Amino acid sequence: MAFGFRSTLQKLKEWLSSNRYKGVDPERIAIRTQGCWSCVHFSTEKAQNLWWDEARQKLLQKGITLALSTPLGEKDLKVLAIRKGAPQMDAQMTAQQWGCCKVGIKADGTPVDNFVASTFLCRMWTGAQGASVAREGAASDRLPEEELARIHEKKVE
Ligand code: SF4
Repeated sequence: MAFGFRSTLQKLKEWLSSNRYKGVDPERIAIRTQGCWSCVHFSTEKAQNLWWDEARQKLLQKGITLALSTPLGEKDLKVLAIRKGAPQMDAQMTAQQWGCCKVGIKADGTPVDNFVASTFLCRMWTGAQGASVAREGAASDRLPEEELARIHEKKVE
């Protein structure tokens, strides 16, 4: 099983470096095996509750207030963004793309916001049940900021 996982990663790297993506430098490929999606602190249930009980209502109320206070009304760009954003967030909530986390920290050391994307990763990551087994004790992934630094770092000729 674990062998299959590694093999899949290797195959993915090979595929990304294949003819189809010939111009892609393998050094610029980052494959993630960890993220909030597999962290014990990530709660999609809390996020759903917060979104449906509070945040969604506040956002829609803000849209109404904005529409009433601007000459463009419902056609104001900020109002349109809210009208478009709420159903998008509904769908993302259903797909469990957002969660709540009480211990996560951002690159600048501040706590993560109310909603954290399932693809985020911070140094407080703790594998949820099954996550460690799937990774077979492999070294931790680089944090997003570390990965960005690696990808952008100047290569020594
Ligand atoms: S923000 Fe950090 S601690 Fe929170 S769920 Fe994501 S990886 Fe885990």
